[in-house]
Amino acid sequence: MSRFAVITDNCTKDLLCLDVCQPVAIHPTTDEPDMDNVTQLYIDPKTCIDCGSCIAVCEREAIYEVDELPEDMKKFAEINAAYFKK
Ligand code: SF4
Repeated sequence: MSRFAVITDNCTKDLLCLDVCQPVAIHPTTDEPDMDNVTQLYIDPKTCIDCGSCIAVCEREAIYEVDELPEDMKKFAEINAAYFKK
């Protein structure tokens, strides 16, 4: 199973992760109008290269490797993926 990172609702949209994500796997970006509508950011599991940079930079500890999500946050794997199926 490929690994990727997942953002949980501890996200405060401080945008720190956007600056370090080389493949632009985190959305919405500041260029996307949806930024004003969302309550958190999301990672596209198909674009994420599992570099870990966003996890390291997140001051809220809102981002986890998919297989390291705490039990009560496992649902965010699907919530992140669902954002990109809209
Ligand atoms: S793990 Fe790396 S590639 Fe994946 S979302 Fe975070 S910064 Fe982007």
